[in-house]
Amino acid sequence: MSFDYDLIIIGAGVGGHGAALHAVECGLKTAIIESAELGGTCINRGCIPSKALLAVAGRLRELQHSAELGIQVGSIQFDRGAIAAHAARVVEKIRSDMTRSLEKLGVTILRGQGKLLSGQTVEVQGASGSQTYTAQNVIIATGSQPFIPPGIQTDGKTVFTSDEAVRLEWIPAKLAIIGSGYIGQEFADVYTALGSEVILIEALDTLMPAFDPDIARLAQRVLIKPRPIQTRVGVLAKQVIPGKPVTLHLSTGETLAVDGCLVAAGRIPVARELGLAELGIDIGKRGFIPVDSRMATDLPHLWAIGDVTGKMMLAHTAAAQGIVAVENICGRTTYMDYLSIPAAVFTHPEMGFVGLTEPQAKEEGYSVGTVRTYFGGNSKAIASGETDGMVKLVFDKATGQLLGSHIFGAHAADLIHEAAQAIARRASVQELATLVHVHPTLAETLDEAYKRAAHSLVNSS
Ligand code: FAD
Repeated sequence: MSFDYDLIIIGAGVGGHGAALHAVECGLKTAIIESAELGGTCINRGCIPSKALLAVAGRLRELQHSAELGIQVGSIQFDRGAIAAHAARVVEKIRSDMTRSLEKLGVTILRGQGKLLSGQTVEVQGASGSQTYTAQNVIIATGSQPFIPPGIQTDGKTVFTSDEAVRLEWIPAKLAIIGSGYIGQEFADVYTALGSEVILIEALDTLMPAFDPDIARLAQRVLIKPRPIQTRVGVLAKQVIPGKPVTLHLSTGETLAVDGCLVAAGRIPVARELGLAELGIDIGKRGFIPVDSRMATDLPHLWAIGDVTGKMMLAHTAAAQGIVAVENICGRTTYMDYLSIPAAVFTHPEMGFVGLTEPQAKEEGYSVGTVRTYFGGNSKAIASGETDGMVKLVFDKATGQLLGSHIFGAHAADLIHEAAQAIARRASVQELATLVHVHPTLAETLDEAYKRAAHSLVNSS
C-alpha cells in the first residue's frame, strides 16, 4: 500500500515540532497538522511568554535589592504596555524561527483541524474544506488546555487563565490565584513584582504539593512570607463570578472580593475530538491517551506524545517523547526514562528538581538517605548576595545510588542538569563525590552535598 506520507503529526507544539525535525533527519516524508498558531502552548501561551515576563520580574527584583551590593538606583518605573510588547516580540521571534526550521527541512504544514479516520488516515478540516491524507505512521501531539474547576466562570478578562495572563493586558491591584503549582507560583512572582497583592488559594492541605516538602517549606519562607501574598491552604474556591469586583465563594464560607482571578488549577488533555473512541482507544474520564514507554498507543502505527499523554506535562518531555516515538517508528527500539527528566520553576529564586522526592523514595521502599546543603554557606552565593537556597539530595543508603535532587536557589534551573545526568547514569553519591567543581560557583553546593552523602555512608557502614 502506498501512503501520502511516511509520518503525519497532529499538533505543532514543541512535541510535534521536535518529532517532525527528528523524522526528517531520519529520512521520513513528514507532514504536520495545526489548527491554530504553530508553536502550541509553550511558544504562544506557556513557557516562552511566561519566561519573558519572569525575566522582567527578576530584573525588577534585582534593582530593588541592588543597594545590598552598593548600587543606588532612583525610583524604579515600569511600563506595562512595553513589558507586554517585549513578551509578544519574544513569542513572535521564537515562533517564526520554529516555522522556518520546519519549512527549511521540507516538512509539509497542513492548516486545519485533524481527526483520525483510522490509525493511518487523517482528515484535515481547513478553511477551504476537508482533505484526507494517509501515512504509514501517525503521531498525536495535540497537547493540553487549562482546567476550569466546576463552579468557576471565566470571562477571559477579570477571571482568566494563563492563556490570557501571558498577554499582561492589565495588572490587577488585588489578584486571587487558584492553584499553587508551578504556574500559580510563577505568576505570583510576576504579579507581585509588578505591584499586585496576591491571595493564593490551594485546595490540597499544603502549598506546592508536588514538590519535595523541604523545598516547598523553604520556598514558602522565601517566595511567599516576605511578599504581599496571603495564602488559603486546604481551601476550595467553590464559586467564582467574574465582574468588578470578582467574587469568590470559598469552602470555608468566606467570600472574597478581588480585582482579578487567575485560574491555575491544572491542565487537561486535548483528545476528545480526535475520533479515538471510534478506533477503540479508551481515553477514560481524564482524557489522556494511554501509551507505553515507546510512546505507542494500543493501535498499530498510532503514537502519542506530549501533554496529551499526561506524563510529566513539560515542553522538554514532549520533545523527548517525540524523538523516542520517531526512533521506534524507524525501527530502533527506544524507551522513555522519566526518572532523569528535570523540571524547573522559574520564580526568583528558581527551583529545579529531578528524580524522586523523599516521600516518593520511601514509598518505593528504598532505605532513604538525605543530605541538605545551603546557599548561605556557598562563597559565590555570598559574593552575589543570593544566599537564600538549598540543595537536597535523596539517595539509596543500600547502594549509594542518587535517587533525587531538589534545588531551591539562584540558577537552580541550570544547576539541576548536573544531577539529571547523574540520575540518567544511575550514578552513586560515592562516584559523584569524586567530581571536581569550579570554585567559586553555585555548583559547589552540589559538590558539598555529594561529599556529605558519601561520608554519611562511610560513617554508617
Ligand atoms: P502543545 O504545546 O499544547 O501543542 C499542541 C498543539 O496541537 C497546539 O498548537 C494545538 O493547537 C494543536 N492541536 C490540538 N488539537 C488539534 C487538532 N485536532 N488538529 C490540529 N492541531 C491540533 N513547560 C516547560 O517545560 N517549561 C516551562 O517553563 C513551562 N512553562 C509553562 C508556562 C505556562 C503558563 C504553561 C501553560 C505551560 C508551561 N509549560 C512549560 C508546559 C508546556 O507548555 C507544555 O508541556 C508543552 O507545550 C506541551 O507540548 P505539546 O507539544 O504536548 O502540546
